[in-house]
Amino acid sequence: MIADLSRLVGPEWVLSGAAAERAYDSDAYTVDRSSPVAIALPKDTAEVAEIVRYCVAQKIPYTARGAGTGLSGGVLPALGGVVISTKRLTAILEIDTENRAMRAQSGVANKKLSDAVKHAGLHFAPDPSSQTVSTLGGNIGENAGGPHTLKYGVTAPHILGITMVNPEGEIVEFGGPTAGLPGSEFIGLIVGSEGTLGVVTEAWVQLTPIPRAIQTALIAFPSVRNATEAVAEIIRLGVIPAALEMMDHGILGALRAAFNLQYPEGTKALLLVECDGDDAAVVAEEMTRVRQVAERQSALSFTEATDERERQKLWTARKKGVGAMGRVAPTVVTHDGVIPRSKLPEMLETVYAVSAEYQIGVANIFHAGDGNLHPCFYFDDRDPDQVRRVVLAGEKVIARCLELGGSVSGEHGIGVEKLDLMAIMFTPDDLEYQAMAKSIFSDGQLCNPCKVLPNQKSCTEHRKRWRGIAW
Ligand SMILES: Cc1cc2nc3c(=O)[nH]c(=O)nc-3n(C[C@H](O)[C@H](O)[C@H](O)COP(=O)(O)OP(=O)(O)OC[C@H]3O[C@@H](n4cnc5c(N)ncnc54)[C@H](O)[C@@H]3O)c2cc1C
Repeated sequence: MIADLSRLVGPEWVLSGAAAERAYDSDAYTVDRSSPVAIALPKDTAEVAEIVRYCVAQKIPYTARGAGTGLSGGVLPALGGVVISTKRLTAILEIDTENRAMRAQSGVANKKLSDAVKHAGLHFAPDPSSQTVSTLGGNIGENAGGPHTLKYGVTAPHILGITMVNPEGEIVEFGGPTAGLPGSEFIGLIVGSEGTLGVVTEAWVQLTPIPRAIQTALIAFPSVRNATEAVAEIIRLGVIPAALEMMDHGILGALRAAFNLQYPEGTKALLLVECDGDDAAVVAEEMTRVRQVAERQSALSFTEATDERERQKLWTARKKGVGAMGRVAPTVVTHDGVIPRSKLPEMLETVYAVSAEYQIGVANIFHAGDGNLHPCFYFDDRDPDQVRRVVLAGEKVIARCLELGGSVSGEHGIGVEKLDLMAIMFTPDDLEYQAMAKSIFSDGQLCNPCKVLPNQKSCTEHRKRWRGIAW
């Protein structure tokens, strides 16, 4: 297989051996692992198509991989085979500022898209917190959100066209540089399909003007409940900030340990609120209402940025929070569930209770305005019992999200992590229709197998092995 792939893309672009297998056996969800036989790094759509056609002919499973920052095991090569990395697909191919559109290869990092059009007052609005490394293809795979999803939406509405190698190895195009071109109805199906419908090689993305007025505030609260009540009240008042992010005392402790970031004495939670728009007076009025809510919820401090440098400083806690968790424990599993925002106060209490019940530490950093929770369970994955408890604790939290009328995932996807939870959220009929939609593209056996849909026949026996070392 390695010799064949080398003929297709050149020997220097095929990785194999123990170190490569180890490096590509998981994404940022490290509880489940499975090694590929080889990793191929094609340079363009044509080479991706050749690799897929080769895999189909030889019946070899393959999995597309961007930066590997996924948090649900989406890139885990479940049945081994070939990982198709988009590491070399990093070209921005066309920029059309007049029509606010850009065509790029799928391996371009999210932030590079925005950097390329900043001079024209435009940006690519989806901004996952991993944006300096996570790729356009990965954002499409997961239908990624981010801090500004509250106002600007997730990835799907910002994708105008997709070039993809389908599971038979054909190059197919959906949509194009403007909205509504033929095939664009398939984009909603492909975005968020976690690489199970083909390998995206290029996409046309829609560009959004950078708002003229932006106001950012960091608010310190004496309790988590004060902060969550503030979120619910802000939304209830009809203020829709561009970003409304929360960090709890667990994250603040990690930030202190890692970066010596200090917050007012007695701070148990922070809210980062950003309001934006083209009318500065409207933005200021929104921020005044946010300040009033903060006062009603006994805020300890309300710090507003007066320039871009200060704004970036206020964002530090949010941007560095997950990284800082590396100071606390060797392993972090970042969960992802959704609840109605009004249930945030109750849900956070559930998260802390579950953490105590399973004796696993937890810290929370999340898109509060979307009701999108991210409990970060921290532990040592060299201890099988801790791994077992983390998995059970996560399932309990997500099950409660569903009971409260929420969803099994807000933005991190299903991957392998949440396969078992799909059957709780969806009826057998729902799942059958999803399988039918997938079967339009493939029979599901080779293209990123064992993901998203539970009970795929060839996968059941392998699942224990993914967690074999730890369990
Ligand atoms: C610190 C941190 C912060 C994060 N913050 C956020 C956040 O704010 N919002 C959010 O939504 N997520 C967030 N994530 C999760 C992750 O970054 C996103 O899901 C991101 O979109 C994954 O991009 P990637 O390039 O790393 O994709 P990968 O992890 O490599 O792949 C993700 C999925 O997409 C598929 N895929 C990748 N490339 C292609 C392609 N070219 N064609 C078809 N399928 C493909 C893969 O098969 C896999 O199923 C965060 C992760 C970390 C580690």
